[in-house]
Amino acid sequence: MPDKIRFRCLNCGSRFEAEVLNDVEKREAQRECLPLSPISCPECHHTDVRHGWD
Ligand SMILES: [Zn+2]
Repeated sequence: MPDKIRFRCLNCGSRFEAEVLNDVEKREAQRECLPLSPISCPECHHTDVRHGWD
């Protein structure tokens, strides 16, 4: 099960939740050579995002 993490976009300030791989899934993805997709803002598609909504 992927973890749902809250992010806030540093570009447009929009808040969103994204599913990220947990450590076990990350290791498996690396072993399978799957790409680890970077988190990006759903509004402006900026990848300059920060954990948390505070
Ligand atoms: Zn944004």
